[in-house]
Amino acid sequence: MLETQQTPSPNLGNYWMPFTANKQFKANPRLLTQAEGMYYTDDKGQPVLDATAGLWCCNAGHGRSEISQAVSQQIAHMDYAPSFQLGHPIAFELANKLAQISPEGLDKVFFTNSGSESVDTALKMALCYHRANGQPSRTRFIGRELGYHGVGFGGISVGGIGNNRKTFSGQLLQGVDHLPHTLDIEKNAFTRGLPKEGIEKAEALEQLITLHGAENIAAVIVEPMSGSAGVILPPEGYLARLREITKKHGILLIFDEVITGFGRLGSAFASNFWQVTPDIITTAKAINNGAIPMGAVFVSNHIHDTCMQGPENMIEFFHGYTYSGHPVAAASALATLNIYQNEQLFERASSLSQYFEDAVHSLKGLPNIIDIRNIGLVAGIQFAPSKEGVGKRGYEIFDRCFRQGTLIRATGDILALSPPLIVEKSQIDDMINSLSDAICSVG
Ligand code: PMP
Repeated sequence: MLETQQTPSPNLGNYWMPFTANKQFKANPRLLTQAEGMYYTDDKGQPVLDATAGLWCCNAGHGRSEISQAVSQQIAHMDYAPSFQLGHPIAFELANKLAQISPEGLDKVFFTNSGSESVDTALKMALCYHRANGQPSRTRFIGRELGYHGVGFGGISVGGIGNNRKTFSGQLLQGVDHLPHTLDIEKNAFTRGLPKEGIEKAEALEQLITLHGAENIAAVIVEPMSGSAGVILPPEGYLARLREITKKHGILLIFDEVITGFGRLGSAFASNFWQVTPDIITTAKAINNGAIPMGAVFVSNHIHDTCMQGPENMIEFFHGYTYSGHPVAAASALATLNIYQNEQLFERASSLSQYFEDAVHSLKGLPNIIDIRNIGLVAGIQFAPSKEGVGKRGYEIFDRCFRQGTLIRATGDILALSPPLIVEKSQIDDMINSLSDAICSVG
């Protein structure tokens, strides 16, 4: 356990915090100052059990010396190298290693710095592919209601969370439609694992294709399991049906695995878990345990090769980031992948998932819970909104849990649990006890 100490309070005035109610936060801040294993420490020196793997990132737990050593060695060895028309061995090594665990056929890897960048990269790849393939009219995208695909203009356009879009409406990508979301509490409340009802929601894709013509549609993008909107699971057979329809019509299928990538469900990717292989996968977060900003897009050889058809010496894809495949981030990712492999953390997630499921479903019956959903090592607990408005109850339970030493995540009135994959059963019990106390005291 960390030796804990109180940290002097910083001046909170200058930092404009992301996705945060800044005024409310600054009146009553929650500050994390250290992390090790399953625990953060707050600025008062109190341990905080991490039930969220940071922000779905730290699947190997915190303070991994293998990662910090790899990072410091790489900075000392070569801090940075340009990424355009130049390369460095470690990015190639990482791409090779990633291709060994990616779903079959998705062997080409494009590096980014975040999930948002991975999504915008994937959308641009889809356009590039169709153009190179002689079908330049395929420019439309189809996302899904309540989908979260980051905060770039591409990502908020295909995303389906109203609050993230409405300030920017009028400036979003043209030619985007959304499939219906798959949350159906009336039919599926308290289902363990995949909901039985709802496969027919995939048929909305056929309707959009009839409306616009397949020849005008570039890609469909969905999270195989929506995390940010509150853990929304695909109904049984739904993802396979999307795959069938997209394949039939020559439309690319993109799975946004920024949350599900790297073991969250007990397999390397949700695509392996559900045995549905898309054409493109977007990732970030747990690729390097959240140590340094990094993302990666996995793409099929066919898409890659099609985009490479330009004349010799011609840049094939006018896209990339100064920090694509950054050597220090790549070193941190290699160290992370070694940990996942050596400690068999994906298998561990799988073997703990039944215990985790039983634990979260034991909360059923506590005040105001209207649904509990789970898969792998992720769960969502949904509450009826309080009289004071949507999100109030969720926030209060989250805040109370934090004050009593457990970090959970609140999205409106849905609480999400996604512990690091190193979690022990006793720590799952601690999370559930803390949550139960908070739920009962908030009421
Ligand atoms: N896609 C999904 C599915 C995500 O969950 C997230 C982040 N929660 C993103 C994209 C965006 O990632 P980032 O915040 O790293 O840009």
